[in-house]
Amino acid sequence: MIKVFEDFELSKVGQFQSVLEAEGIRTYLKNQFTSGVLGEIPFVEAVPQLWIIEDDDLVKAKRLIQELLSSPEDIGPEWTCARCVSVVDGVFSHCWKCNAERPDDAGD
Ligand SMILES: [Zn+2]
Repeated sequence: MIKVFEDFELSKVGQFQSVLEAEGIRTYLKNQFTSGVLGEIPFVEAVPQLWIIEDDDLVKAKRLIQELLSSPEDIGPEWTCARCVSVVDGVFSHCWKCNAERPDDAGD
């Protein structure tokens, strides 16, 4: 097993895992359940980590992660729906509440 990514944001690590799994790479998520007990273990060991099972997938996994990290427009900041004024997470292109499309100027 090889660790390919880690981030304090479990949602981001989970998203990367989904992308790798979708590409046929077997992954393992470490520390995904430790966020609530940070006081009991060394902080550095509580960082959610994404590992790949097969070492042969390393090149492919690294490339996918690099693409994810270098495309911030796809994982932008949260935006406000122009129709219903709900705050929507940046990973979504449509409002979770009314399904309105994200405006082009989102993220400013
Ligand atoms: Zn909306």
